Amino acid sequence: MIRANDPKLRSWVEVPHGSDFPIQNLPFGVFRTPGLTPRLCTAIGRYVADLQVLAEHGFFDDLGVPRYVFAQPYLNDFIALGKDGTRAVRNRLADLLDDDLEDWDASELAGYFLHLRDEVQMLMPIKVGDYTDFYSSREHATNVGTMFRGKENALMPNWLHLPVGYHGRASSIVVSGTPVRRPKGQMVLKDGEPPVFGPSRLLDFELEMAFVVGRDTQLGTSVSIADAEDYIFGMLLFNDWSARDIQKWEYVPLGPFLGKSFASTISPWVVTMDALEPFRVEGPEQAPRPLPYLQYEGSGSFDIQLEVEILPDNGKGKTVCQSNFRYLYWNMAQQLAHHTVNGCNLRVGDLMASGTISGPTPDSYGSMLELSWRGEKPIPMPDGSDRKFLLDGDTVILRGCCEKNGVRIGFGEASGKVLPAV
Ligand code: MN
Repeated sequence: MIRANDPKLRSWVEVPHGSDFPIQNLPFGVFRTPGLTPRLCTAIGRYVADLQVLAEHGFFDDLGVPRYVFAQPYLNDFIALGKDGTRAVRNRLADLLDDDLEDWDASELAGYFLHLRDEVQMLMPIKVGDYTDFYSSREHATNVGTMFRGKENALMPNWLHLPVGYHGRASSIVVSGTPVRRPKGQMVLKDGEPPVFGPSRLLDFELEMAFVVGRDTQLGTSVSIADAEDYIFGMLLFNDWSARDIQKWEYVPLGPFLGKSFASTISPWVVTMDALEPFRVEGPEQAPRPLPYLQYEGSGSFDIQLEVEILPDNGKGKTVCQSNFRYLYWNMAQQLAHHTVNGCNLRVGDLMASGTISGPTPDSYGSMLELSWRGEKPIPMPDGSDRKFLLDGDTVILRGCCEKNGVRIGFGEASGKVLPAV
C-alpha cells in the first residue's frame, strides 16, 4: 500500500468531520497570499501547507527533488518529476503531518508552513497546454441525442466504438471562484428563421471531471492502453460551461466552438491517482467489445460521488444533480490510448475532460439541458423561482468525494458565478 493511503493514519493537524482533506488525500495546488509569491501547497483539514517553506527547510532534499519546483506558479514542473518523485513527496508529507511524528520538529514549523485555507488565494494549479473534452457518458449522449434526433438515432453509429471527443480551448480555463460572463453570439430563436445576435438565453453547466497528463510523449508515438495510467497524474472537478443556443446553431458539421470556448471552471486541487487508488471500481460493461487497442481489463473507473448546487444571488442554494464518475462508459485509460493512437503527442499539464457525467435517473443528469429536458420541466428553487437554464447572478458549485473504510477523499469545489453579458 502507498504509505499516505493508510486508513489508520491520523494527522496532528485537526481534520473536521466531513472534511475533503484528511491526511490520506494530500492533493496538490498553488496558492498565494498578499505577502507570499505563488507557490505549491497541499491541503490538510482547514489548512494549506506551504511546500516551498518545507522545501527551503530541506524536507525534500533527500528525495532527490529539487527545491525550485515548489516555488513555481504552476504544478507542471512538479508533475514532470514523474510518479516516483511526486509519490515520494506525498509520502513525505504524510510523514510530516502524521501524529506519530518522530524524526522532525515539523509541529514547531507549523506556524510557518500552515495557513488557513480561508485566508489564502488559490490559483490555477496547472498551466494547461492543450485541453480535450470527451463525450463519454452514455446516458448524457443518449439524452442529448434523444432531444435532437429522437430515441431511435440517439447514439451516433461511432459512439460505442470510440471515445468521441473534440479539441477545446485551454486559454479560457479558469480556477474556482472566477466569475463567468454570459457569452454573446449567434442563435436561431425559431427553427427556419434567420439567426439573431445577442446574449445567450440558454446558458448551462456541464458536470465533468478532468485528468491531468503527467508525462510527455513524442510526436508520432502512441501510448498503449496497458501503459495509459502511467501518463495520468491526477484529477479535478471541471465545469464545461455551455451556451446551448449558440452551440445548437454552430456545431454542424465541425462540432463545438463558441458555445463552449468562453469559459470552463476547474477546482484548485489536483487529487493524485495514488490517493484515488482505493476507490477503483469496474466501469459499465462494454458491448460491442471495443477494438483491441481500446480493450481494458479490470477496474478502470473510480467511485466518485458528484453533485451540483445552484446558488441564486441572495438566495438559498439547491442541489440539482447527484451523479457518480463510475457511470462513464469510456474510462480515462481508453480516452488517453485513443487520443494518442494516431501519433498525437501529449504534454505535461494537458487536460482531458470526461464529458458531462449523467447517471441513469433524472436527478443524476449533469446539465440543465437534461435536468429541465430542454426547458420543458423547470426546476423549482427554494425561493419560489424556477430554472430552465442559468440566470445572471447564479453561482454553480460542483463538488465531489470518495468514501470508503472511514476515509473521505474530497475534491473541494469548482465554483463560478454568472455575470450579465456586457
Ligand atoms: Mn463538455
